[in-house]
Amino acid sequence: MGLQGYESSYYADSANEKKSYPRLQGDTEADICVIGGGFTGLSAALHLAEKGYSVVLLEAEKVGWGASGRNGGQVCQGHNMGHEELVKKVGRQAADALWQMSLESVDLVRELIERHQIDCDLKRGVLHVASKPDHASEMRETVAYKQRVLGYDAICYLEKAEVSEMLGNDCYHGGEYWTDAAHLHPLNYALGLATAADKAGVRIFEDSRVAHYQSGATSEVVTAEGRVRAKYLLLACNGYLGKLEPRIAGKIMPINNFIIATEPLDEATCRRINRDDVAVADSRFVINYFKLSGDNRLLWGGGENYSSRFPSDIPAFVRRYMLQYYPELSDVKIDYGWGGTLAITLNRMPYFDRVEDNLFVAQGYSGHGVALATLGGKLVAEAISGTAEKFDVFARVPTPGFPGGTLLRWPGLVAGMLYYSMRDRFF
Ligand SMILES: Cc1cc2nc3c(=O)[nH]c(=O)nc-3n(C[C@H](O)[C@H](O)[C@H](O)COP(=O)(O)OP(=O)(O)OC[C@H]3O[C@@H](n4cnc5c(N)ncnc54)[C@H](O)[C@@H]3O)c2cc1C
Repeated sequence: MGLQGYESSYYADSANEKKSYPRLQGDTEADICVIGGGFTGLSAALHLAEKGYSVVLLEAEKVGWGASGRNGGQVCQGHNMGHEELVKKVGRQAADALWQMSLESVDLVRELIERHQIDCDLKRGVLHVASKPDHASEMRETVAYKQRVLGYDAICYLEKAEVSEMLGNDCYHGGEYWTDAAHLHPLNYALGLATAADKAGVRIFEDSRVAHYQSGATSEVVTAEGRVRAKYLLLACNGYLGKLEPRIAGKIMPINNFIIATEPLDEATCRRINRDDVAVADSRFVINYFKLSGDNRLLWGGGENYSSRFPSDIPAFVRRYMLQYYPELSDVKIDYGWGGTLAITLNRMPYFDRVEDNLFVAQGYSGHGVALATLGGKLVAEAISGTAEKFDVFARVPTPGFPGGTLLRWPGLVAGMLYYSMRDRFF
């Protein structure tokens, strides 16, 4: 029996015990009102409460209900934009700071899990594999760059034969192995953050969708049955932002991504397809990613869509990707299939900003949010408490809006996405 109020998924069915948080009813006040109870909002709320602020967190559904409770659970260093490109965009000093913060983000996830004793199947190692020979050459170069220029040695390049040995197939051309990266059960991590925030004094309200708000010196945030007056607001709605704040909606594009979970596999199969129990992601534009769960299911992520609806048969939609790589799993039962909505930006870097002096936003992690959203929340907390250096380094990365803004962004994006996914298939 899964957690009530969550999308049906393997994660909801294997979730730790959860406290039920009340619905907001009536009027209240806080220093900060956080809108959205995923990693961004929970981390911000926790860090703010630890600094002594009074915090109200409003979640439309349940904490961890969004992408944070449904994702692939990969926790990796680095950014989607390469370091050299970042240097061109923001200069060497800021690019180096962004790199360092990506390392800090993974350390932060580990530290929070340890400090708050969060039981979430945390394991070590992420392997990025090259789906094409030229991707392998690029990986070899970027690994050498990270080692030589960034002085980072928790990464190594693996030849095709080594990758085949680790993954029990012959599909990949090489790989970059992030030995200090990690993977986890994301919903249990989110629930653990919520418990920590609750204990630190955050007033969490579930089933409390923000209908609208009035910003200003003191903001007023309105739900169906209550109101919060607060000095600061954080928008942490990511792919589920909808029409709540049109000034930032055009910076992100919500896209849907899907995962299946097989029945538990026997130990021999697990070791054959994933010798070292790492999380794996390939280099296709619409990526395939997989890992083993705590109870030895293969969790396979693959396939996207860009509409407001999920495919009617998610297990069938995703299974065909899995079978391209592991045809021997054709007899294995698929016990779960689910989807989630994430937000991407045009440059694939997170979008952090101050929409007004006391109105913050952190969103658009582009598939890299387990670590960076956790860090994003912490950086917002630091910025509100007067130390904005790190937040500002992210905020200064130029984030172009999607052409066509909020209304017309779909047709162009969908055409672009389809073009790149076709390219994956044919070139
Ligand atoms: C299928 C899938 C696989 C992914 N895999 C990975 C991965 O392996 N590694 C990785 O790093 N990242 C991954 N991601 C991305 C990652 O999950 C996100 O970047 C991250 O969870 C973002 O956290 P968030 O708190 O910003 O947003 P969310 O977790 O989406 O939280 C936003 C919350 O805001 C709430 N909300 C929205 N509107 C309102 C409102 N009006 N009032 C109140 N509340 C509101 C929503 O209900 C939601 O709970 C994946 C995403 C998906 C969907």
